[in-house]
Amino acid sequence: MTLQVGKVISTPRIIPRPEHPISRSAINNSALKVLYRLKDGGYQAYLVGGCVRDLLLGREPKDFDVATDAHPEEVLALFRNCRLVGRRFRLAHVRFGREIIEVATFRAQHTGDAEGGELEGGRIIRDNVFGTIEDDALRRDFSINALYYDIRDFSIIDYADGLPDLEAGTLRLIGDPASRYREDPVRMLRAVRFAVKLGFRIDAASEQPLGLSATLLADIAPARLYDEMLKLFLAGYALSTFEALRHYGLFAHLFPETERHLGHDRDGFPLMLLSQALANTDQRVAEGKPVMPGFLCAALLWEPLQNRYQRLEASGKARGLMAMQLAADEVFKAQCQHVAIPRRVSLQSREIWSLQLRLLRTRGKRPLSLLENQRFRAGYDFLLLRAAAGEPELQALCDWWTQIQTASDEERQQMIQGDAPAGSTAVPAVRSRRPRRRRRSGKRPSTENRSDT
Ligand code: ATP
Ligand code: MG
Repeated sequence: MTLQVGKVISTPRIIPRPEHPISRSAINNSALKVLYRLKDGGYQAYLVGGCVRDLLLGREPKDFDVATDAHPEEVLALFRNCRLVGRRFRLAHVRFGREIIEVATFRAQHTGDAEGGELEGGRIIRDNVFGTIEDDALRRDFSINALYYDIRDFSIIDYADGLPDLEAGTLRLIGDPASRYREDPVRMLRAVRFAVKLGFRIDAASEQPLGLSATLLADIAPARLYDEMLKLFLAGYALSTFEALRHYGLFAHLFPETERHLGHDRDGFPLMLLSQALANTDQRVAEGKPVMPGFLCAALLWEPLQNRYQRLEASGKARGLMAMQLAADEVFKAQCQHVAIPRRVSLQSREIWSLQLRLLRTRGKRPLSLLENQRFRAGYDFLLLRAAAGEPELQALCDWWTQIQTASDEERQQMIQGDAPAGSTAVPAVRSRRPRRRRRSGKRPSTENRSDT
């Protein structure tokens, strides 16, 4: 356990049903079925983690997790629709149609500090053994994530002073923060994610090591960081999360090259494009529209891409689309050392980027075939984003593409023979390094990054 040696664990606070607001009608039916089946089988069964926290806050939980003293095989024996997953620590997944309820056996962790632990994906794995509910509570990350809802009497059980923290809006690590971050540095990202999403304040002791321990993220498997990155940026709070990550020096460990450009920037341009892309993403999530991870990555890595692209062109090694492709190769190779962006996603970003060159051509047959391109919409949205976030000279080109989408065949013929719009010939494919004035109008671009999958 990560509590300081000698710390005596207090008896839990138990809040009976009449004294808390969680009603069974707010609980997912499948989760209730699992809880009752376990209870009727003679086991302890609780809702735990994010769902209890969110229900108490009056928010809709993302998923319902169950904790029990039944061992995985015992859970398996109780449910027909169940399978065991996980190599190191076996979990039961109980399936109801498309819904899965995760059932985990109480777990314990051994002694306090990180030494002696085995590293797996940057996380220190000690003997991950079954434990009591109390062990299970205290191995969790934040006090507000360690609350249990007991199906026997509908009470809430609080081993880690989570309820007072929930009431106060405080995010507090259980145990000694520095060693809890060392144990699993991803908790730093989780701290930022929960603080932003819930509007909570990170407790001073839990906040203090954040910046100092940021380098620990280098030990985390890049594939795990990609999963975390999606949670950070696709949950509807991308812009505030990005700002908080930068504030704590954590963003630099996810996107080092991007951070370098943001850090050097004197005119606000890269920051504006990225902030606008993140704001658009949040808006789409709020409207229930799909978001394309490749668009997000295209925006996050746009500055590194341009930089490498321009260097290639200046060196004469490659030009145009070829330079763009080489630059993209370099950018993703470097980036994937930190956050492993899957190929299908980086392909989306590459297509969006190369469309930035291809959209410059407005004469001849090419523009018409571009309209049929699977990624046209995303590339066009990216162009709009650029125009709105620091490259106003692209506006005429944006307007041209906006117009041609709804034009008749006859009008289209005229357009592709007419004068090229300002922007298509006058500006280089990507922005020059010349400093630009930051535009202060908080205006949003007229459209958002949309998924066209
Ligand atoms: P969300 O709403 O984002 O799903 P959540 O709290 O449910 O929030 P999950 O990642 O689904 O977060 O994890 C479920 C629970 O498992 C957490 O509430 C926490 O108790 C525990 N947990 C998850 N990740 C860690 C971690 N890295 N260290 C310790 N406990 C963790
Ligand atoms: Mg969850």
